Amino acid sequence: MTRCLNCGAERTADVCEACGLSSTLAEIALRRRLLNRTALLMLGALAFVVAGSEFPPLEIDGILIFVGLLVFLTLGLGIWVERRALQHAEVEALKRIYYGLIPVPWLLGALLIGNGWLDRAPRESWPTQVISRVRMFGPLPSNRLVVRSWREGHNVERIPVTRTDFDRFHPNDELVVKTGIGLVGIPWVVGVDRE
Ligand SMILES: [Zn+2]
Repeated sequence: MTRCLNCGAERTADVCEACGLSSTLAEIALRRRLLNRTALLMLGALAFVVAGSEFPPLEIDGILIFVGLLVFLTLGLGIWVERRALQHAEVEALKRIYYGLIPVPWLLGALLIGNGWLDRAPRESWPTQVISRVRMFGPLPSNRLVVRSWREGHNVERIPVTRTDFDRFHPNDELVVKTGIGLVGIPWVVGVDRE
């Protein structure tokens, strides 16, 4: 049994009875749709990075790695769907999983924004000391102050800061890290200041 690549209906002849597309046209329609969804996925990844720099979670690096892997796997799934479509193999189930994963980076970005923006709880202040600084350029530029941790079981915290704050602090400087507990419980960095 084969299914129409465009609408997913069972197809007995070359022209689909449900949508009227031939198998060639259905394949073109599927590839165009896959391309659009992939663009939406990449935009979502970008939106997530922006949300993460506006309201950076304390564990931003771990979260970025997780979302990066997720986007990477989703992209891989999209490529697999396209390959299978080219080989005229069954794609319905995989296609649905792929389409279902497209909004995930958008939702996670919205979650981070809601977590910080709607967090009305009193801020917490943590006096600590800068150990080192890490700056990364490239597609995902980042400025991190590595400070002594105030949390049990953690040695250091890698605090995401603005470029100005990054330039303002140096190793051995005392500083206060202000955090919010987060509306959905993801601790996030409000800012850093001199003691
Ligand atoms: Zn069809």
